Amino acid sequence: MAAELPKTTAETSNYLSTSRYAEVLDFIHAIQRTDPDLRVESFATTTEGRSLPLVVVGPYTPQSARASGRPVVFVMANIHAGEVEGKEAALMLLRDLVSSHRKLRDDLVVLIAPIYNADGNERISPENRTTQHGPLNGVGVRENAQGLDLNRDYMKLESPEARGLVANVLTRWDPLVTVDLHTTNGSYHGYQLTYSPPLTPNADDDIVDFERDTLLPHIRAAMKERHGKETYHYGNFVEQLQPEKGWYTFDNRPRFGNNYAGLRNRFAILSEAYSYIDFRARVEVTHEFLHEILAAVGKYGAKMMRIAAKSDERIARGKLRKQGLRFELAKWKDVEILWEKSVPAAEGEGAPDPWTETGAIVRTGEIVPMKMPDYGVFKATEREDVPWAYLFDNAHAAEVLRTHGIAVEKLEAEATIDAERFMVKDETHAEQEFQKHHEVTVSGKWKSSKETFPAGTFLVRTNQPLARLIFYLLEPRSDDGLVTWEVLEASSVWRVERAVAVVAKVIAGSPSE
Ligand SMILES: [Zn+2]
Repeated sequence: MAAELPKTTAETSNYLSTSRYAEVLDFIHAIQRTDPDLRVESFATTTEGRSLPLVVVGPYTPQSARASGRPVVFVMANIHAGEVEGKEAALMLLRDLVSSHRKLRDDLVVLIAPIYNADGNERISPENRTTQHGPLNGVGVRENAQGLDLNRDYMKLESPEARGLVANVLTRWDPLVTVDLHTTNGSYHGYQLTYSPPLTPNADDDIVDFERDTLLPHIRAAMKERHGKETYHYGNFVEQLQPEKGWYTFDNRPRFGNNYAGLRNRFAILSEAYSYIDFRARVEVTHEFLHEILAAVGKYGAKMMRIAAKSDERIARGKLRKQGLRFELAKWKDVEILWEKSVPAAEGEGAPDPWTETGAIVRTGEIVPMKMPDYGVFKATEREDVPWAYLFDNAHAAEVLRTHGIAVEKLEAEATIDAERFMVKDETHAEQEFQKHHEVTVSGKWKSSKETFPAGTFLVRTNQPLARLIFYLLEPRSDDGLVTWEVLEASSVWRVERAVAVVAKVIAGSPSE
C-alpha cells in the first residue's frame, strides 16, 4: 500500500503560512515513507542545536553518485529565512521527484537542503520583511542565531551552518550545480524571477560562458514557453524613473554563494523570486524554475561535467597563471529590459523608489520593454600571478582552508628557500562594522628574500583544483580573503613563485566543526 503524499504548510494554510522547522522534518519523513530509497543526512548542527537535513533523492553515497556518472544538482533554500518560497518550492520538488517526475532522477542525482538557516526560520513573525507580499502569518529573519548573514559567510566560515555546508555538501558531494533560492525586493520590473551565474571574473570563463550563453537562455526560454513567465538576469535599475540609464547586477565577491561556487570550478544559479508578487505566485515560479533547471541539466549535464573536469585539470597542469585582485562593474551588452513604468509622484503622494530610496514615485502597473545597457558583469582592474605555493604560520587560517576542502601541508623540517614577503604600505580598517568585523584593505607589494621557515610552518600548493579559492583566501590584497576578515595579518603571508624541494606532509583527518 503506497503511503499518501504530504502537503506543505503553505498549501494546507492556503498560503497564509510558511513551514516551521518541525513541519519541514515531518514532510521529509512522510516523503521517505513513500520512497525508502531516499536518504537523509545531517550536514550541520546550528548554534541552537537544530540538525540541518540534506535529502539525497535516491540510494546514493558521494562515491556511488560519482561512479554513476550522473551530474549532482544541489538545491538549497532558506539561507535568508525571511525569503521562504524556496523552502516551500524545494519541498514540492522533492514530492515531485518521488511521484509525478521520477523520470528526472534517471539523469541526475538531486540533493535538497530545504531549510539552511533553520534558526532564523524559527523566528517567524509578521513584523519581518513587511514590504513583501505575504505570507500573512510572517516569515523568519535574515541572520542565523549568531547574527551572521550566511550568504556573507562562504569565505570566513564563522557559522556552523556554513562550515557544514562547505565540508559536508560542497566538498563531500562536489555538486556540479548549486541552486540557491532567494526572494528580492528592489526595483519595479516585469520579471517574476531573476537569476545569476557566478559573477567573479576569477571563475573559469568556460563555466560562466556556458551558463550565460547556453544554460540560462535555455531555462529562460522554457519558463516563457511552458509557463508563460518572464525571467532574466538579476539586477536593478540605476534609476527607476530613468530606465535608459541601465540595469546592473550586484557583487563579484565570493562571500556570496554563487560566486563561491565559481571559485570551486562549478556551476551556480542564484534564484530570486520577485517579492512584489504574492506568496503563492512566488512559490509557483520558484517551483517551475527548479523543474526547468533539472530538465536543462538533464539535457546538458554530460557537457557541463566535461567543462568542470577540464577546469580542474587545467589547474593541475599549472595553467592558472593570473587571477584578479580588484574588480569593477562593467557593461555586458545592450538589452531590452521589462520596466514597470513609474512616474514622479505629486507633492505628498507616492513612495520612495524602493531600491535607491530617493525621489517619491508612483507605479503604474504597466510593463514596458526598454532598451538599456546591462551592467551585468565584472572585470578585473588589477591582476596578480598565481604562485606555486603560500606559506604562513596561523593555525586558525589553516583550519579554515581545510574546512574549504583545501589540502594544507606542514613543513616537516626547517626549509631555507627563495620566497616573497608582503610588504604593507597602507592598511585600512573599515569604520563601519560588518558581520562583526572591520574589513581590512591593504596596499603594498611582494619583496623577494631568502627565508628560513621552521618545521611546522603551513604550506599550501596551488596545483590543486581549488587553486582559485586558495588565491582568493590567501592573497593579502584580495577583496574577500582571510586578511579582509581579520584572520591573517598581511605581513605574515609568504609566497613561493616556483616549485622548490621541501619536506612537507598533508595534515590528515577531517577538520573539526
Ligand atoms: Zn536573499
